[in-house]
Parts: sequence; structure tokens; C-alpha cells
Amino acid sequence: MTTIAVIGAGPAGLMAAETLAQAGLNVQVFDAKPSAGRKFLMAGRGGLNITHSEASDLFISRYRERQAEMALIVKSFDAQALRDWVHGLGVESFVGSSGRVFPQEMKAAPLLRAWLHRLRQQGVQFFMRHRWLGWDEADPTLSDTTGQTKDTTQQLSFVTPQGKKLVQADAVILALGGGSWAALGSDGAWWPWLKEKEIELAPLMPSNGGFEAHWSQHFVEQYAGEPIKTASFKVAGTAPIRGECMVTQHGLEGGVIYALSAILRGQILQRGKAIVTIDLLPDHDIQKVFDELSRARGSKSMSSHLRTRLGLHGVKAGLLREATAADIFKDPVKLAKAIKALPIELPACRPIDEAISTAGGVKFEGLTAGLMIKKLPGIFVAGEMLDWEAPTGGYLLNGCMATGRAAASGLIKWLSHSRR
Ligand SMILES: Cc1cc2nc3c(=O)[nH]c(=O)nc-3n(C[C@H](O)[C@H](O)[C@H](O)COP(=O)(O)OP(=O)(O)OC[C@H]3O[C@@H](n4cnc5c(N)ncnc54)[C@H](O)[C@@H]3O)c2cc1C
Repeated sequence: MTTIAVIGAGPAGLMAAETLAQAGLNVQVFDAKPSAGRKFLMAGRGGLNITHSEASDLFISRYRERQAEMALIVKSFDAQALRDWVHGLGVESFVGSSGRVFPQEMKAAPLLRAWLHRLRQQGVQFFMRHRWLGWDEADPTLSDTTGQTKDTTQQLSFVTPQGKKLVQADAVILALGGGSWAALGSDGAWWPWLKEKEIELAPLMPSNGGFEAHWSQHFVEQYAGEPIKTASFKVAGTAPIRGECMVTQHGLEGGVIYALSAILRGQILQRGKAIVTIDLLPDHDIQKVFDELSRARGSKSMSSHLRTRLGLHGVKAGLLREATAADIFKDPVKLAKAIKALPIELPACRPIDEAISTAGGVKFEGLTAGLMIKKLPGIFVAGEMLDWEAPTGGYLLNGCMATGRAAASGLIKWLSHSRR
């Protein structure tokens, strides 16, 4: 019987396993961790955002530089198909006010439980605590009965609690995730192993992560953990985005910062720093801000004047003081300009392990349309380990599951051709 090894039991690997099992193949899923879908469960902690309800073209544009490669794949398992699939597992979904789609209870656990149950019923076998170490090419125990060494690309080497184990499969799907939140399984250890095989790879980098800023001790003590709400954020060359983000001990993260993370990261790589310009009062034009600042304030302090005339207080007022020289508070023109366009320098990305997702990975240029590695026939790749990125909003999980299905479909096609 034809046996397929799926390595990685995250959403991409599980979706690949389901597609393969439905085609009648013998599917074995291997994962380094004791249980499946750990990052998927973590994604459910803050409300599992499985996809987005926006128009298809806008949805596809979220995959940025890789939208051409992701378009067909995501269109063949789009937001509606994903919602239907969720409903098929007995879980209802709803569209939130932002257009994001969530399972009814917002959690990942009920969905994962039902999914794993269905996969087992479909005959999928799970081998947990099996850490894949790459290919074991020289092992003589893998000679077949004629004494010939079998196809080296399929000899998978695992370390298990019982020791080393070699597995032979007719084809393989690698769905090992990116390189963030290593404690949940996706540690990016696969990157050098594929590099050694001269597979085309882009370096793994943080995506949807935070950035460092030069905060003073005083600012951190007063405002770390505070949200900057309803401001407008702009990076050179892009339209301003209204929203919010969080001041952290190290810099800024969350919301709008995640949405801008690819552009900010690009600026840091190019110029050694990124600048995000914050409009602290997006509901007032600069003239209104100037007029209010110019009103007589009598014996009132400037802090009190900013609060009463413009509603500027708390973390926003703190940020204004943090990022400007003290003397601009004496000049209403300069102060109005700073309030409407406060530049914050971001010298570095926070470490990759803290990021929601990662950019980089296996490049599409080295893959067939069915997501098979051209240099390694029979080895397919799915999920976040592929070289694409997208903002938060459900595009990540939709992309992972769609590529899982696409890799499995590619594998099924490849098997039928290679047997002719
Ligand atoms: C806090 C947080 C919140 C998130 N929220 C959302 C959200 O709301 N919506 C959204 O769309 N996305 C969200 N994401 C992102 C989403 O969870 C990931 O993009 C998705 O899980 C990636 O799926 P994957 O199957 O490609 O990889 P993973 O889910 O990372 O799975 C990879 C699997 O491979 C296994 N593995 C790795 N290396 C080996 C090895 N050598 N041998 C054996 N097994 C190995 C790992 O143990 C793991 O089980 C969130 C992520 C985080 C961290």
C-alpha cells in the first residue's frame, strides 16, 4: 500500500493528511511534540481568527509579494470553503465587526478535537514525539531485498523516546511551520537541512511581530502595557492606517504595528532603522490643533492645557514628551506639527521567536505548481515554512490550510503520473 509521511501536525500538515486520506492513501503523521496543533491552540487563546470575509481580490493582495503564487492556491480553498469545512466539523462560525471570521466559541480546542477525531476515523495514523532530523542517506538497513539502496530522498530519520527510527515513505509532505514560538514546535531547525540539499530558501524573519524603540526608563515605567488608541500610523510610501498598538518595555507591538511589520522590517534591513509617524489626534486637522494650542492658558500647565483643549493625555501625552525636545512645548506651531506627525524611530525587530508568524522559507521558484521541491521529487512543502507572509486577520491560517490541501493534491497527481 502506498504510504505517505506528513511531517508536522499543525493546520497545514493536518489539512494535507485529510486530503490524502480522503484519496484513499495510507497516511502517517509525525510530529516532534507530544500532541498535535500546539500553535493552532495558542492562536485560539486570543480568539481564533480563521479567515476573513473581505472580497477575494483584496484578500489575495494580503499575501503581498507572493500574491501571484498564493492566488490560485487560496482561491481553491477560499474563506467560504474554509467556513464550510469548519461547519462540517460541527462548529459554527461568525463574521466579526471587522470582517474577520471566528468559530462560534472563538476557541481552537473544540475544532481541533473534532478534526483529530475525524482524521483518526479516516485511518490517519499519528506518531507523536517523533522529531524529524532530515534524511538518512547512508544507512545500510534501508537497503531493499535486492541489496540496492532505496531512493535516498524518502529515507526519513526521526529521533523518538525509544531512540532513532528510520521511516520509508512513497512520498512526503513537510509542514514544519516557520521559526517563531519554538516552544510550540516550529523551531525552524529544518532550514539548514534543506539548505544543505541546495533547496532555494529565503532567510526566516519575524512577521507580525514587535519592534524596538529607544524608550527612557521613565517612559517604560509609566506606560509599558498601555495601548495607544485611535491614532493614525504612517510609514513613508504607504497610506496612513488608523488603529491602535501597544507600548511595550522594548518598543511597540500589536494591531497596526503588525499590519506594518513587513514594511518596517524592510526599512530596517535597508537603512538600519524604520520610522513610523504617528498622528496622535487623527480627528483634528493641524489648524484646529494649532488654534487650540494658541488659546491663552493662564496659569494652567501645558499638560493640563493639552488635556482640556485637545483631550491629549495619558500614554499619548507621554509619547509626545518622550519623542520631542522640551523646547517645542513653547512653540504652538512646532507642537501642533509634532502632535499630527510624531516620528518614532524603530532600530530593530523584536526577536523572531516572539513574532506571531515568520516570513521567508522555501521559495516558490524551487517548487512545482503542486508544491513539490523540484530538486527532491516526491517531497512536498506546505504551510508557514513556505516563503510567504500575510498580516493577522485570518490570512495565516487560511494560507496554511490552503497550501496543505494544494501540496496534498499535488502529491496525488504526482503519484498517479509517476506510476504510469
Ligand atoms: C499567539 C499566536 C496567535 C495566532 N493567531 C492567529 C490567528 O488568530 N489567525 C491566524 O490566521 N493565524 C494565527 N496565528 C498563526 C498560526 O497559528 C500559524 O500561522 C499556523 O499555526 C502555522 O501552521 P503550520 O501548520 O504551517 O505550522 P505550525 O502550526 O507551526 O505546525 C508545525 C508543526 O511541525 C512540527 N515540527 C516542527 N519541526 C519538526 C521536526 N523537526 N520534526 C517533527 N515535527 C516538527 C511542530 O511541532 C508543529 O506541530 C497565531 C500564532 C500565534 C503564535
